[in-house]
Amino acid sequence: MKARAFAYVRPRTLKEAHAAFDAAQGDASFISGGQSLVPALAMRLQAPQLLVDLAGLDQLRGVRLEGETLRIGALTRHAETLTEPLIRRHAPLLAAAAPFVAHPAIRNRGTLGGSVALADPASEFPAMMLAMGAQMEISGPEGLRRVPADEYFQDLYQTAIAPGEILIALHVPAAGSSHCWAFDELARRRGDYAMVGGGMMAERAGDGLRGVRIALFSVGPTPVRARRAEAVLEGRAPDAAAIAEAQRALDGDIDPMDDAEIPASLRRHLARVLLGRLLAKLEAPQ
Ligand code: FAD
Repeated sequence: MKARAFAYVRPRTLKEAHAAFDAAQGDASFISGGQSLVPALAMRLQAPQLLVDLAGLDQLRGVRLEGETLRIGALTRHAETLTEPLIRRHAPLLAAAAPFVAHPAIRNRGTLGGSVALADPASEFPAMMLAMGAQMEISGPEGLRRVPADEYFQDLYQTAIAPGEILIALHVPAAGSSHCWAFDELARRRGDYAMVGGGMMAERAGDGLRGVRIALFSVGPTPVRARRAEAVLEGRAPDAAAIAEAQRALDGDIDPMDDAEIPASLRRHLARVLLGRLLAKLEAPQ
């Protein structure tokens, strides 16, 4: 199939982008890397009369350290997370997750903002926003606002972004020398969406962990914080006893559904395996 005919604009300012969207009276889509939107247009799952290309907006570009926070522009491409030194140093979970996201051709075009705006529950980067405790900067009718990841993911493909609003940047608490992290996922083939995946961040405090944040994906309609497992691990060394206890606690954190391919019981089992692997491979800065 081919996409329905549409008009296309590439505004230079946020004001122009919002005005173009509003003029289409809701029958418009923003486009960033196009790696999810273009297939949806081609299959006519979406058929807006106007595409508003965000590529000309400078506010959505660049990666910079602002005090204790790393500001990552929404147009930063998946592939840049592997090469950008500030991301590798201060948001290492993104660099760890990137090789698992799709394939190189898609990573060269897909953007972090597009992935986090779409909020596919099987996607790596949205869940890593939750694991890192990031804030999403959104441009709307009232101007700019920031929404913490814990409030951002609302339901299946539903986020705090209202129609016509634009995700500008991701603000990530900058990881430092005391932090450790891990990412992993279980998929049938490399590049496939994961059956279960997750990432975690924590600080080392003596032999123990503190500020533990664990986020899983492909276990429900949104990325999920594993708060019970986090509580078990807080202040403890990730030894065999703590890992086993956290794996048991994880059962209360997730509520996966049966689907045609994977029964909920298997996803629960895979989530426990995954948590064990994350804790066994916690990495620290080199
Ligand atoms: P687009 O496709 O341009 O947009 C996606 C949606 O977000 C649209 O609804 C658009 O209107 C909206 N949007 C985009 N940018 C903004 C913004 N700044 N503000 C507000 N709304 C915005 N992803 C994974 O996570 N893991 C995978 O394993 C994976 N595998 C894939 C395999 C294939 C074959 C393909 C085609 C895609 C795969 N993807 C995967 C999806 C890919 O990562 C997409 O690039 C990403 O999800 C969307 O980013 P984008 O920049 O291409 O967004």
